[in-house]
Amino acid sequence: MFDHSSFDAHEGVHLFHDADSGLKAIVAIHSTALGPAAGGCRMWNYDTGEAMLRDALRLSQGMSYKNAMADIPLGGGKAVIWGDAKTDKSPALFRAFGRAVESLQGRYITAEDVGISVADMQIVREETAHVAGLDQGAAASGDPSPITAMGIYLGIRETAQRVFATDDLNGRTIAVQGVGSVGGHVCEHLAKAGARLIITDIDQAALSDISQRTGAQIVSPDEIYDVEADIFSPNALGAIINEKTLDRFRVKAIAGGANNQLIVPEMGELLRRRGILYAPDYVINGGGIINVCAEISGTYSRDWVDGKVHALMTTLGEVLDTALSSGDPTNLVADRIARERIGRGD
Ligand code: NAD
Repeated sequence: MFDHSSFDAHEGVHLFHDADSGLKAIVAIHSTALGPAAGGCRMWNYDTGEAMLRDALRLSQGMSYKNAMADIPLGGGKAVIWGDAKTDKSPALFRAFGRAVESLQGRYITAEDVGISVADMQIVREETAHVAGLDQGAAASGDPSPITAMGIYLGIRETAQRVFATDDLNGRTIAVQGVGSVGGHVCEHLAKAGARLIITDIDQAALSDISQRTGAQIVSPDEIYDVEADIFSPNALGAIINEKTLDRFRVKAIAGGANNQLIVPEMGELLRRRGILYAPDYVINGGGIINVCAEISGTYSRDWVDGKVHALMTTLGEVLDTALSSGDPTNLVADRIARERIGRGD
């Protein structure tokens, strides 16, 4: 563990196995310097235990950075369950997971991530109170996507300000990859601001719905990398900025909500050299965790959430300005600030 390439002085890496339900889970707690470690639970059919461990280590570090940049009193953690989310779920499995979370006595707070639904978390809630993202209860925050999307829209304007010297999106062309929960709301904000949209998705029904509502032009999932636009907004998959796509982008900026957009951190510098301003993903997409934090606090306040999201976008602007004046890639500037905030500055 201590030699693992993704180990970053994590405070705890906890393995759980429950023979009766078949639960195999890892809870990685990266840092509790700013508060209890919070981050979703992912259910995925990993090829190997090593792949599962790497995911837990990297995702929990990412949550530390995201929560630090959002300036909320939460540390970073993540849980991963090994299994197929379509065939391997059972109430017993989620109750066993709930007991695992409970055993950490509040040092880790779980929520939904890939493969996990609100209904799954309601079962987890039967065993532990250290769970958020519920749709029942006094402070329930519900679906975080609209808040995430609002932050991304504001973040796109912050980014446009640096590239075009105005945050007015009227008449700008924006290519949007993924029009699901987050991307769909982002499109609506952008259309209202007068932007011209080019969209793609693999879900034809979602595509035609958003196109009808916003007047967006539809292109195929592969074509989206080649369209000429002012800004590319990825809101679907991770690792879409890679050696295959890098030379295809014909945009001045990339700003969208997908997690882990850079396949490796070095892509940040390669984007910079191509004159593309990159809004670091875990900064621009922090609206959702702010919404969840309001639920964890026990008294949900939409005003508090809105204030925090606006403040986060000011932070995004500062990251972009620092990067532009120093010549450093934006992702490394954000990493540096996040690490300082959690007391891991170099
Ligand atoms: P979602 O599943 O509702 O939407 C994702 C969309 O991407 C779907 O419509 C899907 O069909 C589409 N898609 C999948 N593969 C594609 C491909 N190859 N090309 C084009 N489109 C494709 O998920 P979401 O909640 O909207 O999340 C989108 C991204 O934002 C994810 O990376 C997620 O981790 C990240 N994110 C979400 C939130 C949130 O509040 N939901 C918060 C932070 C980050």
